[in-house]
Amino acid sequence: MLLVTGGAGFIGTNFIHSWLRTRDEPILNLDSLTYAGNLENLAALSGDRRYIFAHGDIGDANLVGELLQSYKPRAVLNFAAESHVDRSIAGPESFIQTNVVGTFRLLDCVRAYWGGMDGGRRESFRFLHVSTDEVYGSLGSDDPAFTEANAYCPNSPYAASKASSDHLVRAYRHTYGLPVVTTNCSNNYGPYQFPEKLIPLLVHNALTGKALPIYGDGQNVRDWLYVEDHCTAIQRVLEEGTIGDTYNIGGGNEKTNLEVAQTLCAILDEIRPHAQGKSYREQIVFVADRPGHDRRYAIDASKIAAELGWRPAESFESGIRKTVLWYVENSAWVSGVTSGAYRQWIRQQYGVA
Ligand code: NAD
Repeated sequence: MLLVTGGAGFIGTNFIHSWLRTRDEPILNLDSLTYAGNLENLAALSGDRRYIFAHGDIGDANLVGELLQSYKPRAVLNFAAESHVDRSIAGPESFIQTNVVGTFRLLDCVRAYWGGMDGGRRESFRFLHVSTDEVYGSLGSDDPAFTEANAYCPNSPYAASKASSDHLVRAYRHTYGLPVVTTNCSNNYGPYQFPEKLIPLLVHNALTGKALPIYGDGQNVRDWLYVEDHCTAIQRVLEEGTIGDTYNIGGGNEKTNLEVAQTLCAILDEIRPHAQGKSYREQIVFVADRPGHDRRYAIDASKIAAELGWRPAESFESGIRKTVLWYVENSAWVSGVTSGAYRQWIRQQYGVA
C-alpha cells in the first residue's frame, strides 16, 4: 500500500492512473479537495479495490496518524500542495499552511509511524517528497541548468513555501534518520491540469473565443516535461533512489511562453480550424507581467539519468499534441472545473474575459 497525498490534483491523478495501470499494489489517496482537487479525475477507479480515497488535510495530525495505523503503507508520497504561483502572490497564507505547516505535520506523523515499525518494514519504508525546480530561483540566458548542487534561491511565496518544505524533509532525514527522497521537477503539462496553468488555460481560451494572455514580453523560459514522464521518474526514485538524496527531473525542453502559445495555436489551427478562418494566434495578447516573474528555469537531469537510468519518453512535439487533443476531446471535464469562481479569478489575474 502507498499513501499518496494530493492525488486528486493534476500530477497526483496522473501518478495514480499510471501506477494502477501496471501494478496491483493499492493506493490510499488523502486529499482535502481544494479548488484544484477533483474526484472526477479518478472516477474510472470507483469500485477498484486497489484504490481508496480519504478526504482530509495533510495538516490534520489525528487523521494522518489514524490512516497510517489503519492502512500501514510501505511508502508515503507527498504531492499535496498549493501549487499556483499567481495565487501565492495574491494570497500566500494557504501556501504557508499547506506547504510548510502541512508538510511538517505529515512528516511528524510519518516519523512516529516509521519509528514504531519493525525491522524489515522499517528498513524499506520511504517518504517521497514531490517538489519543484522553482526552489532554485531564476537563471540568466547563459547560465547552466540547475543541478542538485545549486543553492536554493526561491523568489515567489510559492517557491519559498516549497523550499521550506524541502528543508524540513531534509532535516527529518538528518535529525531523525527518516528515510526520505525528494524530487525537484520542471514544469509539467498533460491531461487533468487545472486550466489556470499556461497550457490548459490557452487551449480553453482559444476554443471559447477568449484572449490568450501572455505575461510581459512572452520570453520567460520554462523547461517542459510531459506529466507521464514525471510519474515514471517518481516511480524510479521511489524504488531505487538513494535515501536522503534529491533528484532533479526535467524534459530538456526549454521553451519561451510565446513559443508554447504559438505551437499550441498551430496544432489547434490544424485539428480544430477556427470558425472564422483565422489563426488562433490572433487571440494572443500580452498582459502586465507577474511581479518578480522568474526569467528562466532549466533542469540538468543527468543525475537521475546516470544513477537510475530514467529519461523522458515523450518529446515536446508529441507531448503537446497529445495534450491539446486531450483538452479538445475532454471539453466536459474543462467545463466542469471552469466554474464562476474560476472565471472571476482569471479576470482578476489577467484583466481579460
Ligand atoms: P495541483 O494544485 O493540481 O494539486 C494539488 C492537490 O493537493 C489538489 O488535489 C488539492 O486538493 C490537494 N491539496 C492541497 N492542499 C492540501 C492539504 N492541505 N491536504 C491535502 N490535500 C491538499 O498540483 P500539481 O500540479 O498536481 O502538483 C503536485 C505537486 O507537484 C506539488 O507539490 C507541486 O509543488 C509539485 N510540482 C508541480 C509541478 C507542475 O508543473 N505542476 C512541477 C513540479 C513540481
